[in-house]
Amino acid sequence: MLATEKAPLSGAFSFLKRALWMAVVGSAAMSSVPFVNTPEALRALAAQPSTPCQCNLQRCAGWESVNDTEWPASHMQHLATLRDPEAYEPTFEEHHPNGTRYESADAPVALKFFPYNRCDVFACGRCQQHVLRYTEFGGYYVDHRARRLAAQLIVE
Ligand SMILES: [Zn+2]
Repeated sequence: MLATEKAPLSGAFSFLKRALWMAVVGSAAMSSVPFVNTPEALRALAAQPSTPCQCNLQRCAGWESVNDTEWPASHMQHLATLRDPEAYEPTFEEHHPNGTRYESADAPVALKFFPYNRCDVFACGRCQQHVLRYTEFGGYYVDHRARRLAAQLIVE
C-alpha cells in the first residue's frame, strides 16, 4: 500500500525535476557566457594552472591570426566574454603606456581598450591554457585573432 502510494508521487517528482532541469539547460544554452569586466576576475581565470600541449595556441604569445582550420575548436571551451553587452561600439583605442605595440608579446592586457574590449575567453580542454580571441572584419575577409592570456600582463 505504501509502495503504490509512493510510486506515482516519486514519478511525478522526477518528472518535475526533469522539467526543471530541461528549463535550466535550455536557458543556459540560450544565454551567453559571463561578462568579465574587472582585471581581478580575469586574473582569477588566467591563474588556473595549465600544462604543456602541442595545440596551436602555443605560438600566440602576442596577437596572431588563427584561422578556423588551426583553431582547435573541438577541445576549446568558451568561458567568458570581455565585450560589454551594453556597449554598442567598443573603442578602437589601444593602451600602450610602456611603448609596446599591438602585436607585442608583452603588451598589456587592458580590458577597456582595443582589442581586449571585444574578446572572448576560451580554454584549451587539453592543457587548460586560457586564450583571448576576437574577429577582425575587413571588406572581404574575416580574420580570427588569438592571444594566450598571461595573468601578469593584465592591467586596469
Ligand atoms: Zn592546448
